[in-house]
Amino acid sequence: MDSCLFCKITKHELPSKAVYEDDRVYAFQDIHPQAPVHVLICPKKHIATLNDVGAEDAPLLAYMFDVARKIADQSGVAQKGYRAVINVNADAGQTVFHLHLHVIGGRKLSWSGD
Ligand code: AMP
Ligand code: ZN
Repeated sequence: MDSCLFCKITKHELPSKAVYEDDRVYAFQDIHPQAPVHVLICPKKHIATLNDVGAEDAPLLAYMFDVARKIADQSGVAQKGYRAVINVNADAGQTVFHLHLHVIGGRKLSWSGD
């Protein structure tokens, strides 16, 4: 996906603030953080949305949540609480169509559905 923003970021063709990286995922700081901790975990494989995840990707999805737990722990929010969120398509406000898991914490988060 030559034109995909997060493909370029995961390949370090565009700048980002790295949080964690291995052969399967790249995690970096969100450019417009919604809370003191706001990290995006992207698979290095291009998958547009959660709807496009295949059965073969199940271990990758589980791994993304594993990384989320570790980032929450290392960021000091694991015990107080945090949110691990995947927005899917227009009604959820997905703006970048490369799968990413938001890890958001460090303040009390409201839950209105908005
Ligand atoms: P979503 O609405 O779930 O698609 O979230 C996309 C997220 O990507 C938003 O929270 C943006 O602030 C974030 N974002 C967009 N461009 C960049 C970028 N170049 N570097 C880091 N985060 C970005
Ligand atoms: Zn991509």
